[in-house]
Amino acid sequence: MPVPYNRSMPPASPLPLSTPLQELPGVGRERAAQLARLRLVTLEDLLLHRPLRYEDRRRLLSIRQLAIGQATSTRGHIVAQGIKTYRKRTKSVFEFVLEDGTGRLHCRWWNLPFMEKYFAVGDEVMVFGKVKSLKPRIMDHPETEVLEKGEGLFIHIDRIVPIYPLTEGLPQRWLRGLIWRVLARGKEQFAEPFPGLVVPDLPSRADAVQQLHFPEELRDAEKARARLALDEFLELQLAIQRRRKNLLAQSSGLPCGGDNRLIKPFLRQLGFELTAAQTKVLRELRHDLSGPHPMRRLLQGDVGCGKTVVAACCALMAVESGFNAVLMAPTEILADQHFQTFTRWFQPLGVAVELQTGSRKTSRSPSATSAEAASPGRPPAHPSPASLYIGTHALIESGFEVPNLGLVIIDEQHKFGVTQREKLVRKGRYPHLLVMTATPIPRTLGLTLYGDLDHSVIDRLPLGRGRVRTFVRSAAQLPKVHAFVLQKIREGRQAYVVFPRVEEGDAVAGIKSVTEQRERLRTAFAPYRVGLLHGRLRPEEKEAVMDAFRANQVRILLATSVIEVGMDVPNATVMLIENSDQFGLAQLHQLRGRIGRGAHESYCILMTERATDQARRRLSVLAASTDGFRIAEEDLKLRGPGELLGQQQSGVPPLRFGDLRTDRALIERARDLAAHLSPGKAVSS
Ligand code: ADP
Ligand code: MG
Repeated sequence: MPVPYNRSMPPASPLPLSTPLQELPGVGRERAAQLARLRLVTLEDLLLHRPLRYEDRRRLLSIRQLAIGQATSTRGHIVAQGIKTYRKRTKSVFEFVLEDGTGRLHCRWWNLPFMEKYFAVGDEVMVFGKVKSLKPRIMDHPETEVLEKGEGLFIHIDRIVPIYPLTEGLPQRWLRGLIWRVLARGKEQFAEPFPGLVVPDLPSRADAVQQLHFPEELRDAEKARARLALDEFLELQLAIQRRRKNLLAQSSGLPCGGDNRLIKPFLRQLGFELTAAQTKVLRELRHDLSGPHPMRRLLQGDVGCGKTVVAACCALMAVESGFNAVLMAPTEILADQHFQTFTRWFQPLGVAVELQTGSRKTSRSPSATSAEAASPGRPPAHPSPASLYIGTHALIESGFEVPNLGLVIIDEQHKFGVTQREKLVRKGRYPHLLVMTATPIPRTLGLTLYGDLDHSVIDRLPLGRGRVRTFVRSAAQLPKVHAFVLQKIREGRQAYVVFPRVEEGDAVAGIKSVTEQRERLRTAFAPYRVGLLHGRLRPEEKEAVMDAFRANQVRILLATSVIEVGMDVPNATVMLIENSDQFGLAQLHQLRGRIGRGAHESYCILMTERATDQARRRLSVLAASTDGFRIAEEDLKLRGPGELLGQQQSGVPPLRFGDLRTDRALIERARDLAAHLSPGKAVSS
């Protein structure tokens, strides 16, 4: 083997980071196209290409030392190779035999005959994989790297080497060689992005780039990643803080604190006392609404804690102050429910409530607010000049305008994107903003996603709620479960039965759909009335079935997850969820939040057909805990932030190095650093 003549970096004549990869020596048009498929276009992209993993090739096992089942690398020379075909040449196996002086290793690839052209007898090859038998020693489908002789071999052996994500036709070894050759010419240009920032326990950004690719030790690679992740989080935090500063500088708060003249009678008629937690939050809100700057506040509170009534008080403060308010909800069903609740609450006070959804709007045009509120036909004797508008995303559309907008409330905020929130706010001149969510937000997400909002929490449920018990049951137990539901119905209660799909055609095998199950359940639950609710019904159909359910005429509601958010029917005490493993934990927690709203005991039954260990473990988290925060943390770990936040664009840019699931310490550090970071000021942590 030739002795490596130079293990240090090649001499550096700097290249700008913006250099297109095609201009680098050794990169032709074809390679550039392959790199572009990995979204690597400039030198900077290339140098920030994050390895998938690292392989410690300093102490390779010899072929004789290989043990069964362990993923390891070894190396040797090919002493024989060939293809066998069988089943009338429809199947094939390509095999080569590797020899290193201690033993032989058979490496095999099934039905990939073209592999043959990548190897030749005499080649020196590194392989990485699991040995599946010892006599003879066999590895199936290992990763391979042909070690060509001569210059550069030292890049690929006797060190910790990076293994990169690849694309078809792009060899690992070639990419590693390229990065090695250009690293020194680019890395020094990774200047510290934030002047004055000192992080003594982590490498400089330039060194981090170096260590990302060719670390001395594995822990150096992790430190490099941490440094690059910290930079990402810092940028995010600085953007958040910049937005906040701009808001404070450019705007002053509309006086929306009110004078109690509507809230007092409202609370008197409500039928229950606010909890201490609700009262505390209301104080915070009133303080904001009468403060010098527009409110930007997130109200968090677990399902059923009573956020709606707090929102109502807020709306009344704005109305008392002569400003209109809007309330946006993510589904028509919820907007409708809010419309009914608020109408019942506000009409006696003389405050008009209007509805604006995709399919329905109440007749009056927003611009005519005060004139029409005073018109005959509206019951109140002393109509208020300002109103509350309730709706879905239809509120954001361009045709909808609200004069004199003082307050924007967004319910179930996690179902909306940041841009939708902004669009609604822009209907006014810096109105106050209250966003509400029942999805407990793990702290890492809170700091990034909602970092520009103040936080309030309702941390207690109202007293007098029945207990909610949760069970996991398998398909075989379904008849028993149905009998149990029927018993509760006979006692006067109501039930939800939730399915993951609307129709059979949508179904993956074994996943139940609500339409296909309807007839069976009608029979099973006879003589009680069964209703059907899903997103594909016409709005008036949805409304009719919801009204019947609220009125306790429909006793059992078969539904999809459209009922996930907001539904409030205290007499419903049973939540039966079919194929529950199809839902995220946070989503199941939301669904469970539909029950336990009255004084009766409630029951959540999670059905699962696939009793895989993982599915059961996941569901048992839910059975064991009613703590939304714990469940959300668990969901974040299991499924990542996208799932937790729903389909909507979350407002967090894609992170190359940072991980919202595990980087809590880095995120908190970034927030603290960002708070002190200003040009010319040295900051350390
Ligand atoms: P969420 O926070 O999930 O939006 P809601 O606002 O829908 O919860 O409230 C759940 C139920 O609790 C509603 O029926 C509501 O009227 C009731 N509620 C709210 N606050 C109280 C309270 N202080 N005492 C008793 N019941 C309350
Ligand atoms: Mg709610």
